[in-house]
Amino acid sequence: MARRDHPNNTWCPQCGYGISVDEEGCCISCGGDAMGEGVDAAVALLHTADHTEAFRVRLVAVEELIEEAHQDKSAFDEGAGRGSGVNWGDLRAVDVEHWIRDDGDSGYRVCVEEVSPTAEKFPAFIRAGLADRGIENTEIVCEW
Ligand SMILES: [Zn+2]
Repeated sequence: MARRDHPNNTWCPQCGYGISVDEEGCCISCGGDAMGEGVDAAVALLHTADHTEAFRVRLVAVEELIEEAHQDKSAFDEGAGRGSGVNWGDLRAVDVEHWIRDDGDSGYRVCVEEVSPTAEKFPAFIRAGLADRGIENTEIVCEW
């Protein structure tokens, strides 16, 4: 992970070297300020690339899957009295981000609100649904 000598290095006080950054120049893993010479270049790349269609496709797909999930809420019960961890009333996809790392690795991330970060079945359902639609390289982040 150490990329100290890399001319495009990025690092975060919490996560170390070679981190991925978002469009605001924050560390993807912890949300802290990313540092290093590579941050500006990575952020510039994120801003110049046109991800509009990729964002739209992912957002629409997740919204459709949320709609589908409403049809059988009991399927998301985690068992052992945990419930589903989903607040069905306000459940929604709130945003899509693209991230890139200085080694060239990149991906998308869709944030779904009103789901417990510890829920397993709901994000697994969304991930499987995206895979069924041929949408790859997309992470689901659940937030309350
Ligand atoms: Zn970090």
